[in-house]
Amino acid sequence: MTHPFPSDSALYGGIEAGGTKFVCAVGTGPDDLRAEVRFPTTTPQETIRRALDFFRDQQDRLGGAICAVGIASFGPVDPNPASPTFGYITSTPKIGWRNVDLAGEIRQGLNLPVGFDTDVNGAALAEGLWGAAQGLDTFIYLTVGTGIGGGGMVGGRLIHGLLHPEMGHIRIPHDRQADPFEGCCPYHGDCLEGLACGPAIAARWGTRPEDLPPDHPAWALEAHYLALALANFVCTLSPQRIILGGGVMRQHHLFPRIRAEVPELLNGYIQARPILDKEEMQKYIVPPALGARAGVLGAIALARQAADRPNP
Ligand code: ZN
Repeated sequence: MTHPFPSDSALYGGIEAGGTKFVCAVGTGPDDLRAEVRFPTTTPQETIRRALDFFRDQQDRLGGAICAVGIASFGPVDPNPASPTFGYITSTPKIGWRNVDLAGEIRQGLNLPVGFDTDVNGAALAEGLWGAAQGLDTFIYLTVGTGIGGGGMVGGRLIHGLLHPEMGHIRIPHDRQADPFEGCCPYHGDCLEGLACGPAIAARWGTRPEDLPPDHPAWALEAHYLALALANFVCTLSPQRIILGGGVMRQHHLFPRIRAEVPELLNGYIQARPILDKEEMQKYIVPPALGARAGVLGAIALARQAADRPNP
C-alpha cells in the first residue's frame, strides 16, 4: 500500500467530538501523540472555543507546525463535502447541538484544512492505518456502547453515500416471546441499537451491564442480536474483517459466542474461509487494536487525509 499522506514531519490536530466529552490532541499517530486535552461537551459555543484555544496555543508552541485538523464527531452529521451543510452536526437529540457547523467553526477559527467524518468512520480509518485492519481495504468497525454505530471502508474508501452508514439502526428479527423488551431507540423501538446497546441491556434486566455475570442469560441474547447484525453486514458489505469495540464489548466472553453464531446464521452459504474455518474466524471478528485511543487517533487520521485532499 502506498503512503497516501503528504509528509511525515508535519503535525496534525485531532478532535474526538463525543456527546459527553471532547478530546483534542496533536501528533502524527499512535506512537506520537504530543499533547492532549479533554473537557466535557457543554454548549457548542463554549466547547468549540475550548478546542480553538487548545489548538491556537499548540500552534504558538510548535511554530505553526499543525497543517490540518481532523474531527471525528458524534452525529448524525453531514459528511458530504459538496453539501452546503458539510461538517454540520444535523439531527442529534443532544440539546443545543442540532445544526451546528462544527467543521466550519474549526476551519475558520484556525485557518487550516479540516477533515470531518463520523466518530466510527474515524475509528475505522485509524484501525485501518495502525490497528486491527491494517492491509485490508474492506472492513467494518462497530461500536456497541451507549448507542451502536458502525463505519468502515469499502475498496479502500470510507463508506459514504446518501449520508453515512447507520449500522446501529438496522432492523433484526425480534422474538417478542423470548424477549418481550420493546427496545429503547426513540426512532425505531426495537432496531439493533434499541435491543442491544448498553442502556437496552440495563433497561431489560434492571442491572448495569457491567454488573451482569458472564453466565447471565443477558449475554447469550446480546451475542444473538449482534450475530444477526454481523450476518447482515457480511451479506451486504462483504467485509474482510469485523472490528467490535465500545463499552459493551469489554465483555470479552461475547466474542466466542458471536464467532460461533455468525457461521450458524449464514449456514454454509458464504464460502469464505473466515466464515467456514474456526481458526480463521478468530482473526475475523476481533476487538480494536487501538482501544480507547481509536477515537482521537481517528481524528488525527482524518486530519492526515484532509492535508492530502483539502476541502474547498
Ligand atoms: Zn433505531
